[in-house]
Amino acid sequence: MDFKLTDEQELFVAGIRDLMAKENWENYFAECDENSQYPERFVKELAEMGIDSLLLPEEHGGFNEGMVTLAVIWEELGRLGAPTYVLYQLPGISTMLRHGSPEQIDKIMALRGTGKQMWNSAITEPSAGSDVGSLLTTYKRRDGKVYLTGSKCFITSAAGAPYIVVMAKDADSETPIFSEWFVDMSKPGIKMSKLPKLGLKMDSCCELQFDEFELEESDIFGIEGNGFMRVKEEFDSERFLVALTNYGAAYCAFEDAAKYANQRVQFGEAIGRFQLIQDKFAHMAIKLNSMKNMVYEAAWKCDNGTMTSGDSAMCKFYCANAGFEVIDSAMQVLGGYAIAGEHRISRMWRDIRVDRVSGGSDEMQILTLGREVLKRYR
Ligand SMILES: Cc1cc2nc3c(=O)[nH]c(=O)nc-3n(C[C@H](O)[C@H](O)[C@H](O)COP(=O)(O)OP(=O)(O)OC[C@H]3O[C@@H](n4cnc5c(N)ncnc54)[C@H](O)[C@@H]3O)c2cc1C
Repeated sequence: MDFKLTDEQELFVAGIRDLMAKENWENYFAECDENSQYPERFVKELAEMGIDSLLLPEEHGGFNEGMVTLAVIWEELGRLGAPTYVLYQLPGISTMLRHGSPEQIDKIMALRGTGKQMWNSAITEPSAGSDVGSLLTTYKRRDGKVYLTGSKCFITSAAGAPYIVVMAKDADSETPIFSEWFVDMSKPGIKMSKLPKLGLKMDSCCELQFDEFELEESDIFGIEGNGFMRVKEEFDSERFLVALTNYGAAYCAFEDAAKYANQRVQFGEAIGRFQLIQDKFAHMAIKLNSMKNMVYEAAWKCDNGTMTSGDSAMCKFYCANAGFEVIDSAMQVLGGYAIAGEHRISRMWRDIRVDRVSGGSDEMQILTLGREVLKRYR
């Protein structure tokens, strides 16, 4: 694989550097994190650069770029301290083009370029976490309408996104049929409450309740009965994006710590001259390099149609764990300044811990990968 950037990728990276140098974004991110507020002003700047159209085909005014280019951009954003987890919805425009009805596509396309949140999926329920097949939310047809009933929990963006795609099973079928419904969150009758969380605070996390919530047949998302196949595709892509975010944050923490280690003096010397501190940097560098190779290889496979669920599970598991270790070591290098006060490393430490559960737990990634690896030798 060639790691040299193309001219287009160089241009994107230069644009990101200019944007990040334009103002002290860290103050804005810290404020958004403190107030659990979506950084819309920042995402709008990215959208104006066309980052939300990166993966779209030319006939939709997109750049027709692939995951390698997205990786290049997210790496740079993460490295410079931007919370790329708030951008998970941007590749969702392509998902909408693949599965949405023309009306649903128009609704999402209208949000392009605005920096506003768009849509997300609601699958998890209070009694159905890793075991998604045990979900209880149902849809029932009556008098030409469809009625949705059930509870969803831990739903990201539900307080800010205008549309949520809800997974439910057909109440009238004896064999389970899982389908998704495109729900307009501005309609009355949806109970929503925000949950506090450890990290990733710039996006909301909510409980949702539907009690005979009325839908039209045209609100179905994708093909009836295809819900699980559709979300499997989404899980693979989301897990890769999580890994990329974790790698970018770890890179940022590593560079902050390296600069600090070279200038912080104790016992008459820069702490970077102590072998115990050098040992941390050697291990951080090995982990960063492994993360980079893993996510770029997965991105390349994605662009060439060969990425598997095992690849994305491997990326998510490794980058969430190795990334956590890098950020934790960086925190140790900064000593009290990362623990007390307002250093961005402490925010990244909280954020990355969430990713060992959210989007599929560590244990589920290991199970997915283990199964896939053994299958190759059957
Ligand atoms: C911040 C956040 C955002 C989220 N956003 C969304 C969202 O937008 N949409 C959505 O649908 N969901 C979302 N989720 C839900 C997330 O996908 C689930 O939390 C996750 O899948 C785990 O489910 P659970 O929390 O119910 O844990 P459980 O499934 O109850 O698991 C608890 C523990 O048991 C382990 N475990 C379970 N089964 C096994 C097994 N067979 N073998 C070994 N260990 C096992 C798990 O790995 C975990 O460690 C979000 C979660 C969080 C925390």
